[in-house]
Amino acid sequence: MTAIVLRDYQSLTLADTRTAFANGARAVLLVAPTGSGKTVMFSCVASGAMARGGRVLILTHRQELIRQTSQTLSAFDVPHGLIAPGHPPTADAVQVASVQTIVRRLAGLDWRPTLIVVDESHHATRTTGHGRVLTHFAEARVLGVTATPQRLDGQGLGRAAGGFFDALVLGPTVAALVDAGYLSRPVVYAPPGAPDLSDLRTIGGDFARDELAEAMDRPVITGSAVTHYARLCPGQPAIAFCASVAHAEHVAGAFRAAGYQAASIDGTLDDATRARRIADLGTGALQVLTSCEIISEGTDIPIVAAALLLRPTQSLGLYLQQVGRALRPFPGKGHATILDHVGNCHRHGLPDDDRVWTLEGRKRRKTDPAPDLAIKQCPVCYTVHRPARACPSCGFVYPVQPRVLEQVDGELAQVQRAAEREAAREAAKQAQRDAKTLEDLRRLGAARGYRPGWAERVHAARQGSQAPRRASR
Ligand SMILES: [Zn+2]
Repeated sequence: MTAIVLRDYQSLTLADTRTAFANGARAVLLVAPTGSGKTVMFSCVASGAMARGGRVLILTHRQELIRQTSQTLSAFDVPHGLIAPGHPPTADAVQVASVQTIVRRLAGLDWRPTLIVVDESHHATRTTGHGRVLTHFAEARVLGVTATPQRLDGQGLGRAAGGFFDALVLGPTVAALVDAGYLSRPVVYAPPGAPDLSDLRTIGGDFARDELAEAMDRPVITGSAVTHYARLCPGQPAIAFCASVAHAEHVAGAFRAAGYQAASIDGTLDDATRARRIADLGTGALQVLTSCEIISEGTDIPIVAAALLLRPTQSLGLYLQQVGRALRPFPGKGHATILDHVGNCHRHGLPDDDRVWTLEGRKRRKTDPAPDLAIKQCPVCYTVHRPARACPSCGFVYPVQPRVLEQVDGELAQVQRAAEREAAREAAKQAQRDAKTLEDLRRLGAARGYRPGWAERVHAARQGSQAPRRASR
């Protein structure tokens, strides 16, 4: 028998959950980051409910999560059955169910839970399988757990937003878990060259998949990923999140060509091969594992020390899940390296930013400061960090600017962004003026990725405009 000792914040969070139910809530949504031990917390709740004579249904939607939940319940000495393919029905008071399976069996079930635990409950909306189960057992209390309490399109999960929940309990923040040593500190680098995605269509709240793959699956971006991995975290266990199966294979190929052990996994592989490659990343036999989404949610490989973001997303939840793969603590690991090649940190902020969660979901207000106002990017090493005088990674000291506003409201923010853009444009013009010779111009053009012939054209234009003046002297 293994005694499970709850961490302080887990005990506090569970006390808050009990209070929410005691205050009359029927469906409580518990928000806690990836790595906070959500499974341990809800297993503890299930154990308590069982001890008081309740019947508990734990809903999950992935094979790995069913396994993980079952293991945790066993560690708590909670007898339980599995409602999943290949498992005969049992009479246990606690049942762990695959959503897909229980939805098919709903009509024939004569067992009704008094409490339903919904893992990854950002999927629990009226139209999903989760929704059908919750509607079928409408009299049961509900405990939802998630790291990001909003749907992909930013809608909330509360009743007013068309969801199921009527109370929100906030667990610890990512920053608090990092400070306490329960998560690794994320260090984010955003190398230049993130593709311009402004022309991409948005479907169902995120970039259109086919267009995304086309935008990302380019040798120059893949090459940059390899270069920066080699520079910043060479040989460390890394997961690369890609935009398509082919993209994942190309990225793995580029890493192999650079001398690293790399492989890709996707849904077409059999379970054994997939499990072996994931295990190989854990043992060091593989250094880089690439994939298109199969390892974002629920896959736990604590040794992973780097996340390579090659799949831009408008989903804050997906971004945090991907980054979360690298934040698990592991002996000797140090910080987690996040290589953001797709601008996600500018879209969603830093992984350990404190976020405001509500049951209503993301508010789209024009006056909200954009996430990229709260962050600074070092021009030397590309580290993205909170505003500071100097880069925390390489020590680069930022030139002092008059009127630096770190905390600005929306309108000022717009003004400041415009001023920053203007300053950047002016600096670019000045650099061009400073490039006196054709050779200087060619170097500048190459550094900025301009088309061949640009330097010659600028040079020729200068000769043309200067000739008359010279002649008039
Ligand atoms: Zn730096």
